[in-house]
Amino acid sequence: MEEWKQQLQNSINTLDRLKSIINVTPEEEKAITTLGTKWGTSPYFASLMDRDDPNCPIRRQVLPSMAEKVNQYGIDDYLIWKENREDVRPDSIARQYRDRVAFTVTQVCVNYCRHCFRKELVVDGDLQLRMDVEEGLAWIREHKEIRDVLITGGDPFVLSDEKIEYIIRKLREINHLEMIRFGTRAPIVLPQRITSGLQKILEVYHRVPIWINTQCNHPKEITDQTAEAVFKLLKCGINVGNQAVLLKGINDDIETFKELHQKLLRVRIRPYYLFYCEPAPGIDHFRTPVEKGAELIRDAIRGHTTGLAQPMYVIATNIGKIPLMPDYYICEKNEKEYTLKNYEGITTRWPNIPE
Ligand SMILES: *Cc1c(COP(=O)(O)O)cnc(C)c1O
Ligand code: SF4
Repeated sequence: MEEWKQQLQNSINTLDRLKSIINVTPEEEKAITTLGTKWGTSPYFASLMDRDDPNCPIRRQVLPSMAEKVNQYGIDDYLIWKENREDVRPDSIARQYRDRVAFTVTQVCVNYCRHCFRKELVVDGDLQLRMDVEEGLAWIREHKEIRDVLITGGDPFVLSDEKIEYIIRKLREINHLEMIRFGTRAPIVLPQRITSGLQKILEVYHRVPIWINTQCNHPKEITDQTAEAVFKLLKCGINVGNQAVLLKGINDDIETFKELHQKLLRVRIRPYYLFYCEPAPGIDHFRTPVEKGAELIRDAIRGHTTGLAQPMYVIATNIGKIPLMPDYYICEKNEKEYTLKNYEGITTRWPNIPE
């Protein structure tokens, strides 16, 4: 059996298996035994957890917490609202834009992230959707204005090579498609998934390119195996971007935030988005003030390190992603000139050209 399949089969999703890897605290044990929530991760990702520290950034993303019972700010039926699901469309198609859609092909994940905004669907299973691939493909075929399909989940890379190949082939038969994207945490939580078999499927030269975005939230999640998986994807002609989630106590300090983005570049992952943690129910404890993400980019990234390390900070809303970067750099503007400030607070002048 291929290693990635063994990883999935031996998923760390029982208290006994967990106890063989870390010293489980009474609080963690209580959440696991009383919340009745789906949880679990690959043995590989579990091996990155700190044995003794319950505040370990990986532990906090993997293990249920009693804090999930609190829901002061979360929106009920969040996903229905967020993905505009009142409109008539197959369950597998989420639409917020004219030219692109998210196509959900599975609700299975490698890692059941505690901060997941699709929690109701993926983790809690309160929301039942019909993930019918054929129905989704037919809808995309009929909608000629769609240029770009973002294949998501769950995690689409839990699907077999055959299924992935089939979805790509069927999408590429649709003439109006110009690109295919995958959103998958596999390079981070299951790098073994990038096998030579999958490479063969992905590396085919085609008019319609494939892009991948993964999700990495803390530098501890990046290993030599991550680097190797990303390099294999790049060899297939696939760019790998990152969509980090801003998580309180995990990556919301300057040092961690900078190290995360520099380390992503060291393994050839290009930061794409930084998402504000969404108001899905039961994840209040992960959320920071909205301004925090912009401040971190200002204080840790812009000017402090290469611009390649800078993600765009956005809130993903029901009407699309809204960028949230105030202009910190224009101090003054008059008819003649601007006064501009750099990351160190040094100012300079720049002529203002009338229209
Ligand atoms: C995020 C998202 C997209 C893709 O947005 P980009 O800004 O192009 O990356 C498309 N459709 C939906 C429903 C989304 O949530
Ligand atoms: S991999 Fe994505 S969909 Fe799955 S639990 Fe994590 S954030 Fe949610």
